[in-house]
This record gives sequence, C-alpha cells and structure tokens, in this order.
Amino acid sequence: MTSKNVETVIRENEQSRLVLQGESLEPKKVIWRIIKFFYTKMPAASFLSTLAYVLENFHATIITVLSAYFFEEAYGYLAGSGNAQSLWGCAALIIGYYLAYHIVYSLSSICINAGVYEKAQYLLNEDLVETVSGISLVEFEDGEVLRRRKRAEECVKNDRISGIFMLMTVLITSIAGILSLLVTLGLYHPVLPAVAVASVVQFFLADWLLEKEGYQMETALTQKRRKRDYIWSLFTDLANVREMRVMGFTGHLAERWKAERDVVNEGQWELDRKKARYHLLCDAIMTCGYLTGVVLCIFLLRRNAISVGVFGACLVAFVSVQKAVGNFFGSIGRIPGFVGLAADYFTFIDKRCVQESKLPDLQESIEVIEVKNVDFRYPHSQKLSVRNASLTIRQGEVVSLVGVNGSGKTTLVKLILGLYHPSQGEVLYNGIDLKNLNESSIYQRTALLSQDFALYPLSLDENIALNDLSHVDKKDRIQDALKRTHMDGVRERTGGADGIVGKEFGGMEFSGGQKQRLALSRVLFADRELIILDEPTSALDPLQENAILEEFLRLAAGRTTIIISHRVGLCRYVDKIAVMNDGTITECGTHEELMAAKGEYALLYDVQSKWYLDSAEEV
Ligand code: ADP
Repeated sequence: MTSKNVETVIRENEQSRLVLQGESLEPKKVIWRIIKFFYTKMPAASFLSTLAYVLENFHATIITVLSAYFFEEAYGYLAGSGNAQSLWGCAALIIGYYLAYHIVYSLSSICINAGVYEKAQYLLNEDLVETVSGISLVEFEDGEVLRRRKRAEECVKNDRISGIFMLMTVLITSIAGILSLLVTLGLYHPVLPAVAVASVVQFFLADWLLEKEGYQMETALTQKRRKRDYIWSLFTDLANVREMRVMGFTGHLAERWKAERDVVNEGQWELDRKKARYHLLCDAIMTCGYLTGVVLCIFLLRRNAISVGVFGACLVAFVSVQKAVGNFFGSIGRIPGFVGLAADYFTFIDKRCVQESKLPDLQESIEVIEVKNVDFRYPHSQKLSVRNASLTIRQGEVVSLVGVNGSGKTTLVKLILGLYHPSQGEVLYNGIDLKNLNESSIYQRTALLSQDFALYPLSLDENIALNDLSHVDKKDRIQDALKRTHMDGVRERTGGADGIVGKEFGGMEFSGGQKQRLALSRVLFADRELIILDEPTSALDPLQENAILEEFLRLAAGRTTIIISHRVGLCRYVDKIAVMNDGTITECGTHEELMAAKGEYALLYDVQSKWYLDSAEEV
C-alpha cells in the first residue's frame, strides 16, 4: 500500500469521530443554550432564583439608603433636634426590611438548591448516560472520545452548567444593583464610587487568570485522572486482585497508582497555592482601598462636604460596593473556565443527535452476507487488522473462521456486525451496504457469544433470557437451553428467577467453563436467525466441548452461523471454512476441499489432530 493510500485510510477511519474532534462550541452559544435549558426545563425555579438575585443585588442600595436615614435620625436625636418616635420608626423599618429579605431569600435558596442544581444535574446526567450508551465501539477505542467523556462527566459532577446559569444570573442582576449603589454613593460624593471600584478591580484579573489556568490544567490532568482511576478500579475488581496477589505485582501497580495520583495532586495543589497567593494580594489591596475610602470620608466630613448620616452610611455602603463589585468581577473571571467545561459537555452530548439519524431497517430475513474486499485499521494503529478480505455467507450456512491468534477473525466478525465500519470495501446484507442500514435491525436478528461475554448480577433466568426478556417467564424454554449445555439442575441451585448470579451480591459463583456454558445457553435461548460464536468452547474440557458443539450444530441447522475457533476439530461438521492469516482470508472451502489443497488449513488440522492423538495416547 502506498503512503497516500495509508493517509486516505486513516482519514476515512477518523471520519466517525469528526463530530467529537470538531471545533468546540463558541462560549456565547454555550451560555445561550444553558439559559434556554433552564428556562424551558425548570421555569419556576429559574425565575425564582433570578428574583432572589435581583433582591440580593438591590439589598445593598436599600440598606445604604436606610442606614443613612437611620444615622441621620440617630445623630439628630443625640444632638437634640430629632425625636425618639421617628428614631424607633426608622429602626422598625430596618428590622422589618431585614425580616422580609431573609424570608424571601430562604425560599429562593430552596429553589436554587432543589430546583436548579439538583434537577439540572439529574437531567444532564440522563443525557450523559444516554450518550455514553450510544457511543460506537470504534469511538470507545479513541482516547479523544474517552477524554471528552471524562470532561463531560466532570462538568456534570461539579455542577458547572448550573454554575454558569447562576453566574449569568448574578452578572445580569448585579449590573443593575451595582449601578444603583454607585449612583447612590456618587450622590453623596462623586469620588466615593471611584475609590470603591478601584479597590476591587484586582479580583477581575485574579479570577480570570486563575480560572483560565485552572481550566487548562484540568484539561491536561484529565488523562492522568483517567489513568489513576483506571488503576484504582483494578484494585476493586476481584479477578484482578486475585491475579495481582498470585503474580505478585500488587506493589508495582500501587506504585504506579501513587505516581499518577501525585501528578494529579501536585497540579491541583499548585493551582490552589496560586489561588491563595492571588487572593491574599487581592484582600490586601481591598483593605487598602477600604482604608483610603474611610480616610476620604473623614476628610469630606471635616470639610462638611457630607453629613454625619452620610458618613455612617458610606462606611456600610463602601463594604457593600466592594463586595458586590468583587462578586461581579469574580463571576466574570470564572466564566471562561466554566464555559470551557460546559462546551466539552455539549460537544459530547451532541454526538447523540448525530447518532440518532435514522437509517432504514433490513426488511427481509438475511439471505446472504457478503464481505467484499474489506480493509480495516483500528484507530491510532499502524497496521491493517483486516486486509482485502472477501467472504460470502448464505442463509443457513455454518461457516467457521479459523487461523492463528491475531489473524483478524474477531475483527472480521465485528465488521460483519457493523460494530466497526471498513475503511475500504463493503459489507452487504442482501445486497445492501451495511453503512446504509440501521444496525439495530441486524442485532435484533443476531445472537452473539463473544470472547468477553459477561454474566450479570441478575437472576439466572434473566441471564439466560437477556436477548429476549419478554420471554423470561418461559421456565421450560430456559430449562431446555440449560440442559443442552449440560447445565441442568443449576436453576434449582441458584434459585432460578429469584436468586442472583455472582458472589458480589450473595449469589452463586461459577467456574470459567460453567460460565461459558451459561453464555451458550443464552445463545440457544435466543431464537435468532444469525448466530455468531467467538471461541465458544475455549474454557471447556475437550470431552464437554465435543458433546456441546455437536448439540449446538444440530440446533443451529438451518440458521446462518459463524463460529470462530482456533480448534479446527469442529470444522469437519461445518459447511464452509475460511482460513485467516495476517488479516486476509487465504483459503476458503469445505473440510475435504481444504485438506485436498494441502495448504494452511491442512497443516493446522494435521498438527492439532496429532496433538490430540498424542495426548490421548499419553492418557
Ligand atoms: P483474532 O480474533 O484472530 O485473534 P483479532 O481480530 O482480535 O484477531 O486481532 C487482529 C489484529 O488486530 C491483531 O493484530 C490485534 O493486535 C489487532 N487488534 C485487535 N483489537 C485491537 C484494538 N482494539 N486496537 C488495536 N489493534 C487491535
């Protein structure tokens, strides 16, 4: 293959992840989308929380005006020019206002916590789970997709989308609040608002820089976190722990985990230290600003430029304006970091919309499957795993794929199932390219036993009837499927529909061979027209293997069946054998034809039958 061809193949292979690799959403689009999301999905809570912020932002102005009024009255009373009644009236007004403010504020806090944060997290999580479950297998192999997934998970976990909504609400409502406060302060004396603002501007710079750097650092650390979490998950999986102990590499893995953890922690701590330094500096400048304001107020008071009441109110207002403006700039500063993470979330979620494009179902039963000159390379892999492979499988045929490990058998089956798409060539069902078909309509006709099959912590009956749960109550059918894989009696021991499989939840545990037989029963239970078995008997002993396979082939008669096996013994009973070598189908025919051809199959067969004979003699 020329280098140009290789590039074309890589480009074509990468087309499936263009959506994820594409430009991230623009910040203003992200913000607009978030505001729309909240006001359409939870209008009442969103409205109330906005109201709470409007109230909060006008609170400072109201308090300033009330304080000036109160100080004025108190000063007048002490100087003998005011009366006690209006002083008490003024105090009652302030207390009444405080009470009303706190009642409204408590109510809206409930709305913010339960309505905005919790409900949003629930809805966003739902979308995330749906997207993750819809990711194609080829994308699961893609580090970039996994990174985005992690970012999207972190975005939801850390409430970043609700955070943006609240930040935007704070920003918009605080503009009006701050303006009214500055105008009020300016009316007392024009210099006061300028000093107040100048003393808090540094927050803008600090938070902007910190959040931007924080976002970049978080992005860089995501991969490390994923690795750290993966290694940690090994310590919590029984099978891995068993292997680690016996093989003695627990310590090595623990060291690796610590190393990854330290890198993540060091990055995080560095950021925290930087934040602390910035904030200390900001606080120092703010305190200087406050002292300047106080000195200025004393100066103005001494020159009779402001009254005593205004002097007192100014001291209160000065703190309020510093707080409000600081919050405002702080919020602006946090937006880029938050929006970056939210953009990652939406880019990831939008993937689902693309996947939902509807392709037509395969209407008739599968009459013929044709693999035509197919090439396939895994993402980021240098080598083609399937090369120029061609194979025709007709309805009812039992086809065996044989070949040494790594020759491409499993990959070819994945291509036949549409789990991956060829980079060149095509897979046709009844003459229609699989790329133009809704793959679900193929899966509904397929029963698959893959190498990495799983038993789930469900009842035994559910484990067997997983492909067809609407028939999980057909006990006889389940019993029959179990009997055919020599697992009769197991229903009684596990509790059938009521017990649970697996030790984690107190159920029964099975050996590797038993698990494989249960997985085979699952395939037998599913009444599908296409059966695919990937190394279905690798964990069985030879005696069981023959008996079960014979039974299986008898049942499979009339159904299209593809069996992958590196044991060629069963090939005598199948209709067609395809031999794979280095990604290519090198031979194809019946057992007799391939034996007569004296090629690779004949060699494999002779070697394996000799091994079996020798073993039998030794026994
Ligand atoms: P077989 O089923 O015959 O043992 P496979 O189809 O599993 O072979 O593998 C064929 C080739 O593809 C091997 O070289 C293997 O290393 C490679 N391969 C398999 N899975 C992946 C993967 N997820 N990413 C990259 N390469 C892979």
